[in-house]
Amino acid sequence: TCGICVEKCPFDAIEIINLPQELEDDPVHRYGDNAFSLYGLPAPQEGRVTGILGPNGIGKTTAVRILADEITPNLGQWDDEPEWDAVMDEYRGTELQNYLEELQEGSVTVARKPQYVDRIPDRFDGNTRELLERTDERGVLDDLVERLSIGPVMDQPIDSISGGELQRVALAATLAREADFYFLDEITPYLDIGQRMTAARLIGELTGTDRSVLVVEHDLAILDLLADSLHVAYGEPGAYGVVTGPKSVKNGINEYLAGYLENENMRIRPNAIEFEEHAPRTAAASSPLVEYPDLTKSYGDGEFSLTVEGGTINENEVLGVVGPNGIGKSTFAELLAGELDPDEGSVGTALDVAYKPQYIEIDQPMRVDAFLSSITNDFGSSYWDTEIAQPLQLERIMEQNLTDLSGGERQRVAIAACLSEDADLYVLDEPSAHMDVEQRVQATSAIRRYTENHDATALVIDHDIYMIDLLADRLLVFDGEPAQSGHAGTPVGMREGMNSFLADLDITFRRDERVGRPRINKPGSQLDREQKDQGEYYYAP
Ligand code: ADP
Ligand code: ADP
Repeated sequence: TCGICVEKCPFDAIEIINLPQELEDDPVHRYGDNAFSLYGLPAPQEGRVTGILGPNGIGKTTAVRILADEITPNLGQWDDEPEWDAVMDEYRGTELQNYLEELQEGSVTVARKPQYVDRIPDRFDGNTRELLERTDERGVLDDLVERLSIGPVMDQPIDSISGGELQRVALAATLAREADFYFLDEITPYLDIGQRMTAARLIGELTGTDRSVLVVEHDLAILDLLADSLHVAYGEPGAYGVVTGPKSVKNGINEYLAGYLENENMRIRPNAIEFEEHAPRTAAASSPLVEYPDLTKSYGDGEFSLTVEGGTINENEVLGVVGPNGIGKSTFAELLAGELDPDEGSVGTALDVAYKPQYIEIDQPMRVDAFLSSITNDFGSSYWDTEIAQPLQLERIMEQNLTDLSGGERQRVAIAACLSEDADLYVLDEPSAHMDVEQRVQATSAIRRYTENHDATALVIDHDIYMIDLLADRLLVFDGEPAQSGHAGTPVGMREGMNSFLADLDITFRRDERVGRPRINKPGSQLDREQKDQGEYYYAP
């Protein structure tokens, strides 16, 4: 190792990782001897949304707990009683001075949305209305409930609503509070794109007064739209984290994707993450895995009905699946697996389907290695290590209990469990949830490599446009009226698929002139109107 990493270098490229200069100074906070140290703090700005972009375990929550006065930073002197006076001296003349002074006077109030909304039912007993009414300090609840479509679950017990509903309830509960400083730890998990856009808009509206918002987000298209300025956090997860000074959102994300932070002269990744600006040429179709005719399926007395246009799914391809929540995507996967019978049409031979659900339930008191070896005999073979364990970075969590894993770790174990099964078709529902950007990119290449090397086919449902862009060969687009009627188109090429998906959402993307990454156009802007006229919603015309 290069001397700072607790374990193996995550980039397998230690020679090009330079040590940050900050490490020669005292940290803002150190948890103990040889324990995690944080260098630098983000500076919340009045009336603005400040983003933090960085991996999990890098100290983002620690920074927020300091800004919320829950931790008095010890400037690295972990065995002394920490004093705010010393901290104030340290930050005099910086962007943070004002904020810290107000914090000292006890005049800063904080509202916080936790990262793992799935845990809310463990702490709250009651229904949605009871939870929300307690938080409505600003008298804005009705509007939030309406715009986040929470109405249908208002009288349901909190422990019975889905993760996507919990996410929206948690957001409403936080935004309804009267605070100077709002901290939102990931807003997008389990939300579809339309809901993500709504959340971004609501957060934007909250500022404009003297309120400030700090948001951690790994969906880069949404972060780009949402934040006014950005701090990048980098380092060695679990060992140390450095928070950079503020950057423009555009430069911050570009530098992060390029793997090189300019002001800091710091390489954080050996390779750039790159997107295709022009629609990929449709690959020569391999042999079909399944050809299915038009299908229909409805539940109950037609409360929900799905119509599927017939199509072909090819061997060896990753088919991206996009569309709102509650539109019939899982129902379609169950039809392919033969777990559900269509009302009309027939899939023919049922496929052997390995399924990773959106909401992962692997909370058994069992170690990761025991769990995975119960799924596949290949566990521990060099082939399994290279194809699955390494790309999903499982080595360092093998000995942990499933119940102790963080959200991103659970996600990687669940993806590994799915890919380890012997199947014709691998269906992964929202693999991006709770993973940071590095983990999303690693998981993307793990899924792609696996399908290429194993004549396997994957159907990946995700709402992170960047992940779908990096992952999919073709697209299957769902539209309709959530919870009422859904329609699945036939699988099509990326350009056609993105156009029909984004036209339905009324969103266009332009390309960043420097790195070619997709950026959401401002609705009604000249580019937005031009692209809509040309029918080019995603790829450069
Ligand atoms: P992030 O929010 O970026 O995921 P955190 O701030 O939660 O990161 O944690 C950063 C590191 O600090 C982690 O390795 C975590 O285990 C460690 N850590 C957090 N709280 C404590 C604590 N009270 N004592 C010791 N270590 C801690
Ligand atoms: P998606 O995967 O796109 O979120 P689903 O296929 O899970 O959508 O569900 C589509 C709709 O069908 C939702 O309104 C859901 O509540 C309903 N639904 C799903 N399964 C059943 C079932 N077994 N019985 C009745 N309704 C169901």
